Amino acid sequence: MSPDLIRPADPALADALTTIFPADRLSATIPDRIAYARDLWPMGQFWARQGVFPHPPDAIVWPEAVGEIVALLRLANARRFPVIPMGAGSGVCGGTLAHRGGVILDLKRMKRVRHLDEASLLVTAEAGIIGQHLEEWLNGRGYTLGHFPSSIYCSSFGGWIATRSAGQLSTKYGKIEDMVMGIEGVLPDGTVFASKVSPRTAAGPRLDQLLVGSEGTLAVITAATARVRPVAEARRFAGYVYEDVHAGLEAIRKVMRQGLDPAAVRLYDETDTALSLSALGLDATGCLLVLVFEDVAGLCDVKADLADAICRAGGGRALGPGPGEHWFKHRYDISYKQSHVYQAGMMVDTIEVATTWSNLDRLYDAMRASIGERMTCLAHFSHVYPEGGSIYFTFVGPPGEEGDIETYRSVWNDAMNACVKMGATITHHHGVGLLKAPWMKDEHGPLIEMYHAVKRALDPNNILNPGKLVP
Ligand SMILES: Cc1cc2nc3c(=O)[nH]c(=O)nc-3n(C[C@H](O)[C@H](O)[C@H](O)COP(=O)(O)OP(=O)(O)OC[C@H]3O[C@@H](n4cnc5c(N)ncnc54)[C@H](O)[C@@H]3O)c2cc1C
Repeated sequence: MSPDLIRPADPALADALTTIFPADRLSATIPDRIAYARDLWPMGQFWARQGVFPHPPDAIVWPEAVGEIVALLRLANARRFPVIPMGAGSGVCGGTLAHRGGVILDLKRMKRVRHLDEASLLVTAEAGIIGQHLEEWLNGRGYTLGHFPSSIYCSSFGGWIATRSAGQLSTKYGKIEDMVMGIEGVLPDGTVFASKVSPRTAAGPRLDQLLVGSEGTLAVITAATARVRPVAEARRFAGYVYEDVHAGLEAIRKVMRQGLDPAAVRLYDETDTALSLSALGLDATGCLLVLVFEDVAGLCDVKADLADAICRAGGGRALGPGPGEHWFKHRYDISYKQSHVYQAGMMVDTIEVATTWSNLDRLYDAMRASIGERMTCLAHFSHVYPEGGSIYFTFVGPPGEEGDIETYRSVWNDAMNACVKMGATITHHHGVGLLKAPWMKDEHGPLIEMYHAVKRALDPNNILNPGKLVP
């Protein structure tokens, strides 16, 4: 591979790292630096297609012990190089790009499940474990984390916490921030910490929650304790078609208002419905709603029956369990089909925003209008709560010639500005990274100063994932 492809690494840095990491857990080779030069932000696909790798790290290290992370952070402070924590690199916002060079700290070798406290329903695991491995380990003992992001095969426990991730059954089990009960890690100056695990507390704000969503900028998360639940005994599926998105949303809102606790709720707009139903061999216009319930045996049926009455009364035409069963069986497929789109010379990306019930329809209309005709846009509503829900837009564009990167960027700009204008949050679960950092001031207003103050106090040399989250 030609060394001209990427900027040269700092040889002195790689030498210094050999004092901490053995040769088989440290690399500054060009293939490794290229492999770690992008995450799954679609901009990385553009660059790779053009044969450019603008953000390679100088080196990658694979720690196996907390002491190695402490030593690395001390060295980074002494020599002033960036350290970028990384789980599995499935982030879609450029969160692990080494845009100022430095060292990628890949945590995948720290992957032990340490302890299952069955009486308290708590599991403690190291941050680098891949989500599916943690879930299988728990399932083997009769438990579930209840966290099923579409990237479960290629994302880590620590990455979930660092990005405030959401799983497909978030309506029942919550997002990762609802599950995390304690965090262990290392602060930028090398201080090791472990927060206290307690069901609830009134000892001031929960400071470890500040790290949930901190995207590697405030601490390296090395392990965490999370809530688990017994695997559900029963599952029920239901499908309905509504005349339009607004009728479907109203039915969902009423189901949530009654506290009927569905595990998954997915309402597809007309374009997304056409795609989903054609996969089932069904021909229907309108908007498809899929509900999944899971619970202890008796309760599951009671909740599903009560919801069924609400959905029919709201104008839903019942389709039986078929659409829900089909979605459940294929629930991890769709995200991995994007490569066909790229191979066809097109581009695709997703925007996931959230707001309250009283604002949700209007947000949907405003954001669709902001994307306009520049790209094909489809959407579904897939994480709902009694207070509101999220909208997941997919936009697919024309051939990805160089100039089309401008179209892609302008779609993002206009969609984010529309979201801010509507008072909605700019991200429900993908996080911020480099991509959405320019809107963080709009998101938080004057409170963003709290983040800056904490960052300055903990990381005066700005070594931990600089430039991410907030420009
Ligand atoms: C096909 C596909 C489907 C997806 N579906 C979902 C979904 O359903 N729900 C969802 O929430 N997201 C989804 N995502 C996005 C992504 O998987 C999540 O953001 C995930 O939480 C990232 O985990 P990771 O381990 O890959 O993190 P990485 O990409 O490695 O890192 C993401 C950010 O977290 C920081 N970080 C990672 N580990 C640590 C650590 N131990 N300590 C401190 N900081 C750390 C990094 O510095 C970076 O800023 C999807 C992505 C893809 C490609």
